[in-house]
Amino acid sequence: QPNALEIEDLVMHFGPVRAVDGVSLTIAAGRVTALVGESGSGKSTVGRCVVRLVEPTAGVVRIAGTDVTHLSRRQLRPHRDAVSIVFQDPAASLDPRMLVGEIVAEPLRLAGRRVPRREREARVAPQLERVGLRAEVARRYPHELSGGQRQRVSIARALVSEPMLLIADEPTSALDVSVQASVLNLLADLQRDIGFACLFITHDLSAVEYLADDIAVMYLGQLVEKGSRERIFARPAHPYTQALLAAAPVADPVRQRQRQPVLLGDDLPSALDPPSGCRFRTRCPLAFDRCATEVPRQVPIGDGMAACHLVQPDGTGPDVRTADPS
Ligand code: SF4
Ligand code: MG
Repeated sequence: QPNALEIEDLVMHFGPVRAVDGVSLTIAAGRVTALVGESGSGKSTVGRCVVRLVEPTAGVVRIAGTDVTHLSRRQLRPHRDAVSIVFQDPAASLDPRMLVGEIVAEPLRLAGRRVPRREREARVAPQLERVGLRAEVARRYPHELSGGQRQRVSIARALVSEPMLLIADEPTSALDVSVQASVLNLLADLQRDIGFACLFITHDLSAVEYLADDIAVMYLGQLVEKGSRERIFARPAHPYTQALLAAAPVADPVRQRQRQPVLLGDDLPSALDPPSGCRFRTRCPLAFDRCATEVPRQVPIGDGMAACHLVQPDGTGPDVRTADPS
């Protein structure tokens, strides 16, 4: 089986804004990778390049073994079924004039197949049930549903074509805190049952603890660390990953949101003019001279890596959570 997703040296510049600057990432069939970073890190742009909502400036995107980087809309059509996306805000991503049944069935039509009404209803009902909605919801409009129900509709739509890869871009962060966990659990259950691969984009490392096989950490358009979930949670190597973990250790999302990331006091620098050398150096408690002049290379750690001058070839190095700030 081909890899669900291969991204090689992806670059996406919007004019002078270097939103994505050389990202490489592979997701094997049936695996879940969480792409984690603060808002403005470029992680959503990676997702948008993968589903070709935008055409990348440079680099390669392969889905299920097919290079889709520069395919036209028409050329993309036969590959549409292989990848779907769930957006952050279901209120904005669902057409308010369409019935839920039409929305869920729409990807079948977009893939170039005409679906007769009776077949459509027959296909939609089990999709709705699969995401915990009753079949009669098919005859309602999105505005008649709650935010959590609408996101379930988005998920049903994304999965109706049985994609090999699902892009989930902050799928719960626009929802009421009270329903976030249930939607996250639904995604995890569906992934286990169906076995699609998933790129789970989130700003919240703690949200991926039980969902992701692998984690990729993004900072200012670049990946700073990659690794298995177990390794990243047990032994984060990059100072930024360590700071993210120190900022989000609580399971309660309400308390988490109120909590200030102590080690990440300053705002993310602008992607218009990223710092020289290591892009994290303006916020890194361990930064030293070389960090301003030399781009850190990616030190391999198992199947992953960390890009920091202080990380040793065996993956060890200082930890900002215990280091003495001098
Ligand atoms: Fe910090 Fe320097 Fe490592 Fe960058 S290279 S993370 S600034 S110590
Ligand atoms: Mg985003």
